[in-house]
Amino acid sequence: MDRADAAALRAAITALPARCRYHGDNTEPSESLIHREACCDTGIPAQRRKHAEAILARLAGEVRV
Ligand SMILES: [Zn+2]
Repeated sequence: MDRADAAALRAAITALPARCRYHGDNTEPSESLIHREACCDTGIPAQRRKHAEAILARLAGEVRV
């Protein structure tokens, strides 16, 4: 992945909300019998952003300078 690719992904990721309107930074799903992706429906984009940021950070370690 080159720098332009990383910049494009970062731009898309930062378009997502960073926090849940109701639960703030705590967007991890609670333990329950029903699997949920995030704290609530409103928190899903923020939870997806966290995952995407972690993946990008891992991939960015492979960026060739
Ligand atoms: Zn929430």
